[in-house]
Amino acid sequence: MQADNSSTGSEEPPSGNSFQSLKQFHSAGRGFWHDVSDADWNDWHWQLKHRITNADQLQRLMPTLTPEEFAGTKLANTKLALAITPYFFNLIDPADENCPIRQQVVPRIEETHTASWEMSDPCGEDSHSPVPGLVHRYPDRVLFLVTDRCAAYCRYCTRSRLVSNATGYDFHPEFDKQIAYIAAHPEIRDVLLSGGDPLLLSDDKLENLLSRLRAIPHVEFLRIGSRIPTFLPQRITPELCAMLKKFHPLFMSIHSNHPRELTTEVRDALGRLADAGIPLGNQSVLLKHVNDDADVMKALMQKLLMCRVKPYYIYQCDLIAGSAHLRASVAKGLEIMEKLRGHTTGYAVPTYVIDAPGGGGKVPINPEYVLCRNAGRVLIRNFEGKIFEYPETADGQPCGQPPKEIVEPELV
Ligand code: SF4
Repeated sequence: MQADNSSTGSEEPPSGNSFQSLKQFHSAGRGFWHDVSDADWNDWHWQLKHRITNADQLQRLMPTLTPEEFAGTKLANTKLALAITPYFFNLIDPADENCPIRQQVVPRIEETHTASWEMSDPCGEDSHSPVPGLVHRYPDRVLFLVTDRCAAYCRYCTRSRLVSNATGYDFHPEFDKQIAYIAAHPEIRDVLLSGGDPLLLSDDKLENLLSRLRAIPHVEFLRIGSRIPTFLPQRITPELCAMLKKFHPLFMSIHSNHPRELTTEVRDALGRLADAGIPLGNQSVLLKHVNDDADVMKALMQKLLMCRVKPYYIYQCDLIAGSAHLRASVAKGLEIMEKLRGHTTGYAVPTYVIDAPGGGGKVPINPEYVLCRNAGRVLIRNFEGKIFEYPETADGQPCGQPPKEIVEPELV
């Protein structure tokens, strides 16, 4: 495959990575855990038990912590817990302060700074919650929160008020009440299991939950939202996949933000899920110093397709308290979308959305491709900036005039 740097000119992506090197798959390796047996390393319970969860552990493993990181790490467990699996830790470049993996999981003191427009519940989930752990914001679907625990904690988490219980939110999902609400609402045809991370439940517990949801006749479609394929690919066991495939149609939305997260281990884990017939989509959050670069984003999207995952959404970072240092601008998001659409496979182009603050739901944000629309024609712009006229009559039917390219557009 040829490198395509045409979209960024001479700009270098973060960390000096070339587009082609970003596209390569590597193993995370063993790093500090080189003497751990294969059986332990590949055991997801071992990975969870050996997570890095405090400042002393982190500094011992990474003496290059900056003062901002060390101060943030000391305070982390009072806001959002610190946890990094050994597997994921090995993706951090300790020599690079701006390492995009590091930015996502190593706390910084800036997390304690809250701008006046930031919120603890930016998507208004609590106000759309008819029973604990269930969010009913859209007409035909619900968000079913199953746990407040994750394999590792993202520093920009939209649900940081809830996950890890560091702020005393006291999250107690009540599966009986959640399921009873869904059963009593025939308009709910789609249930998204999320959290925290649903794949932290045991296979038995997850199977029980999925069976109960599948038994509700009007539930057509089940989804799981999980960051575990990238934080803890060891969890994607053949047994888990065999269990999940009993509940089709079952889709999974994974979460990855940088092409370096897509290792050989992750590719294999995603292959197991895809082989179990689970359609896979990816959600990314646009983050400063992580993926606010067109080449990085394009490499991520193309690499996802190589892992059999359809890029689904790029989210503008929610207005979560303490996330300003990670929030890239909407202008940057639009610039990235402009450099994806038409410049790479359509399957590699996700929808860029802002989750409207306060609970308005996802709103797609696009560069402007319709330049003008009136009774006789629509003027559109393609990815190369060329302008075309699409003629139509007032009733929306083509009026028989052949579409034409306009070199010097008249915007009337
Ligand atoms: S995995 Fe998801 S729920 Fe957990 S901390 Fe990250 S963004 Fe939040």
